[in-house]
Amino acid sequence: MECPYCHEEVKEAAVVCGHCGRDLSAFKLIAPTLEKVSDFEERLSSLEKQLSSPVTRAICNADGPRGIMHRMNAYSEDLRKKILEALSRGTTKSEAARTFGVSRSSVKRYAKLAEQGLPLAPKKRPGSKPKMDESATKLLETDVQRHPTATLAERREFLQKVAGVRVSQSTISRMLRRLGWSRKKGRWVRARETSS
Ligand SMILES: [Zn+2]
Repeated sequence: MECPYCHEEVKEAAVVCGHCGRDLSAFKLIAPTLEKVSDFEERLSSLEKQLSSPVTRAICNADGPRGIMHRMNAYSEDLRKKILEALSRGTTKSEAARTFGVSRSSVKRYAKLAEQGLPLAPKKRPGSKPKMDESATKLLETDVQRHPTATLAERREFLQKVAGVRVSQSTISRMLRRLGWSRKKGRWVRARETSS
């Protein structure tokens, strides 16, 4: 396992980290929970990405307005337009809500937006960007190749300065491991080292 303080590899049975000397007993109690939280975090961000992808939007539209995904995503501009068209043909707000499977308050909101000449398109949701984008990931890999002994704190500072991304040391550590690196005796090495 990984020491939560210095991120060195320690034996599964270790009670004290052999590298930084810190007590691991408290951490070991909550480690399984932390692992689960971290898994959830990753699943959530990949779900978020899927939800906002053009493919998902296409499926939602094909599925019709009553598609379950519509409840999780903002209704599309297309659907909003259709609802307004129905209203202009004399459909009542309640009827439109029933027909298109949205709430009556949504229908009222769209009608109001149109009345005020405001854009119908749903607002973009912030916060669904990945923590480490492609360029930051590449920078991190170059950095670990050049400075295999640098600390995670140093890498964190480097990424913030050069790529302008703010990530935790844990995120960096997780990313490095995902890229095939592991920490051994104070330096990061390629986990599956081919004779290089
Ligand atoms: Zn340690």
